[in-house]
Amino acid sequence: MKKVFTGRDVEALLREGKGVDAIPAGVLLTPTAKDAIKAAKSRRTREMTSGEASLEPMTPDYEFRWESGSDPQSGQEIMNFFHSPGVEDLKHRMVDIGRRMWEKNYTDGNGGNLTIRVGDNLVLCTPTLISKGYMQVEDMALIDLDGNQLAGKRKRTSECLTHMAIMKRQPKAKACCHAHPPHATAFAVAGVRPPTCMIPEAEVFLGEIGMAQYQTPGTPANAKAVGEAAIDHMSVLMINHGVITWGKDIEDAYWKMENTDAYCQTVLLATQLKGADLLTITGGQAKELIDLRASLGMEDKRANWKECELCDNSEFRPGVVCAAPEDGAGAGGQLNLEAEEVVKALTDQIVAEINS
Ligand SMILES: [Zn+2]
Repeated sequence: MKKVFTGRDVEALLREGKGVDAIPAGVLLTPTAKDAIKAAKSRRTREMTSGEASLEPMTPDYEFRWESGSDPQSGQEIMNFFHSPGVEDLKHRMVDIGRRMWEKNYTDGNGGNLTIRVGDNLVLCTPTLISKGYMQVEDMALIDLDGNQLAGKRKRTSECLTHMAIMKRQPKAKACCHAHPPHATAFAVAGVRPPTCMIPEAEVFLGEIGMAQYQTPGTPANAKAVGEAAIDHMSVLMINHGVITWGKDIEDAYWKMENTDAYCQTVLLATQLKGADLLTITGGQAKELIDLRASLGMEDKRANWKECELCDNSEFRPGVVCAAPEDGAGAGGQLNLEAEEVVKALTDQIVAEINS
C-alpha cells in the first residue's frame, strides 16, 4: 500500500522543526497535504522578506485518508496495518478524547464510545466495559463495517453498530463520538429537540440537532433509527439514551459533542431565567449563517427552506410557528398583493363588459 501523506503529517514535520523538504519521496500527497505545503512555503517566503512569523488560521485536520480498494486482507497485513504509525497515532487520539469526555462529565462508568473509519471496510473502535477516562492505546480494537472484530485484545464496544450505521449512510462521517452529556441527555430524556436560531456559532458549526426514537442500545433497530437521523444531522439525540455526533475526523466529531452539550446547557439556563419565551435571531439572519455553513463545506438540509420555516421551534415553544412577518413584507405577502391586483383587474374588466 502506497504511503499517504496528509496535511496533519506535514504539520507534524513542521512542528518537529523540519522543512517540507523532509517529506519522503514517492508518497501520495492528499489535497490537504498540498495545501499545507503551499501555506508553509508562502509563510517561509513572508518570514524571509518581512522577518515576521505568520498568524494564518489553521483548522485541525486529523482525517485518515486511504486509497479505495487498498484495505489489508491477510491476517499479517491486518496486524501490520493495526500497528502502523498512522493507526497508532489515531489510537493515541482516541485515548486523549476519551479522557477529555470523562473529565467533562460526558461519560460515567463504562459509558460512551469512539470510532474512526480507517478503510473501505475498516473501523478503529474503543472496547466495551471500560472507563473512557482511563483507556490505554493497547485497548483499541479493529473491526469491519459489519462489526466483526479483526484485531485488538479487548472485545469491541457493542454500540459500534450504531456508529457504522451512520458511516454506511453518510460517507462524510469518518469518525463518531457517543456519550451521555447531562444537559443534552436531559433534552433526550424530555424528548425535546433543542431549539434553533439562538446562538450563531451553533447554527454554523452544529446545524440543527437531530432526534432518533428510543431503541435498545446496541441493537440493529437502534442502529437504523440513528443512522437515518444522522444523514442530515451531525449531532443526534437518542431519546432516553444520550448523544451521538459525527465529523470528518475524531477531533471534529468530539467538537460537535462539546458544541451540543454547551448549547443545551445555555438553553436550559436561559429557560430558568425566562421560560421558553427566549430571544431568537430572524429567519433571514439564520439563512446567512446556513449559507456560511455551506461555504465551510457542511451541507444543511435547511438550505432550501423558506426563511419563515428556519426558526420555527414550535416543538420547543408550542404555538410560535414562524418568526418572519406573516403579511406584506415577506415573499408570501408580496404574492398575495400581486394576486389581489390580478383579481381586481379581472373584476374591473368583467364589470366593464357587463356595463357595455
Ligand atoms: Zn450509550
